[in-house]
Amino acid sequence: MLTPDAARARILAALADLVPLPPERVPLAAAAGRALAEDLAAAGDLPAFDASTMDGYALRAADVRSAGARLPVAFEVFAGRAPPAPLPPGACCRIFTGAPLPEGADCVEQQEQVRRRGRQAVLARPAERGRFVRRRGSDLAAGQVALSAGALLDAGSIGLAAGLGRADLAVVRRPRVAILPTGDELVPLGRAPGPGQIVESNGHALAAAVREAGGEPTLLPIAGDSPAALARGLAAARGHDVVITSGGVSVGARDLVRAAMARAGARLDFWRVAMRPGKPFTFGRWGAAAVFGLPGNPASTLVTFELFVRPALRRLAGLPAARRGAVGRLASAQRKPPELTVFLRCRVRPGRGGLRAEPLRTQASGDLTSAAGHDALAVLPAGRARLARGAPVTLLLLG
Ligand code: AMP
Ligand code: MG
Repeated sequence: MLTPDAARARILAALADLVPLPPERVPLAAAAGRALAEDLAAAGDLPAFDASTMDGYALRAADVRSAGARLPVAFEVFAGRAPPAPLPPGACCRIFTGAPLPEGADCVEQQEQVRRRGRQAVLARPAERGRFVRRRGSDLAAGQVALSAGALLDAGSIGLAAGLGRADLAVVRRPRVAILPTGDELVPLGRAPGPGQIVESNGHALAAAVREAGGEPTLLPIAGDSPAALARGLAAARGHDVVITSGGVSVGARDLVRAAMARAGARLDFWRVAMRPGKPFTFGRWGAAAVFGLPGNPASTLVTFELFVRPALRRLAGLPAARRGAVGRLASAQRKPPELTVFLRCRVRPGRGGLRAEPLRTQASGDLTSAAGHDALAVLPAGRARLARGAPVTLLLLG
């Protein structure tokens, strides 16, 4: 059976021909958090003019060689206004932060260093060429690449693109993800479950997880546990970049999802991973799409999504795949099957000597509460049967 690491590596390798998805042009506001799909170059110099970085006086440094120099104040320049004229020889002008320097001026003195004597300005110290001036093109020269294709568009990058006058950007398309919940016992949210029935919840959890990972989810209607119902469900999923099913991949008599995928034309790459929760997970390619068969227990669904689907979605979206890892200490002793890697849902708290991983009250993969309110997965490695309280563990930090 594959280890979780080997399974993930195999999935990412199997998707290499699809990564990243093709670009699309979107308004700037929709580009945040996505991968840039073009080089972003400055059309002109940024800033486009020499600008003051202080409220003060613009002048020629050569006119103020020593403290006490006096210059007549010729005019005022406010931000957003063109200077009325070049600076007359031997004069200075009032200027404010962000305003363009008049022709002839080569520096600014801040107003705290200047006393006014009527129409004259008295300078408290010698001037220095270039002081308090943002030079034209000093941020970016015309033609210079500000952000290269592949860059993650964070808030600062969005500001940079706006400053360059870009109202829209080419970004990597978000993966379109079909989510197909399967199970005869499931009723859709909003309907009261009858005897033996439960409310379908994995689809909603997965839709939220897909969105968080940078994908566009479509939650399909529940498919029952019959070949015909599953075939209809998969037909509805066709045309998406990624198909995620939940349930029906284990060894029960009504676990028919893998057979249905194969009958629909998918090539399944592997089934089962040596892990808990989530062992019956399956993955394959379905033409240009990736198919992920997630086990139905709520914690199994979300842990396998986190380990296998999320990195795939991030890669498709052109985004970095990995979460931040850390090392922490177990807050309680744990026993486990030695042949499996166990992913323990934990809350992480700062503790003495580093992070402390507190396992959720229940780790039963069928409990909805075992999949809610954790901020890390603690990785309990294969080969170990018990871990003592305080044992160091690798943590995958979520969110
Ligand atoms: P399965 O993987 O189909 O054997 O399902 C394992 C367990 O997960 C069963 O108790 C199912 O009722 C439950 N389950 C399966 N799918 C869902 C779902 N979409 N929402 C909530 N529970 C589910
Ligand atoms: Mg089932």
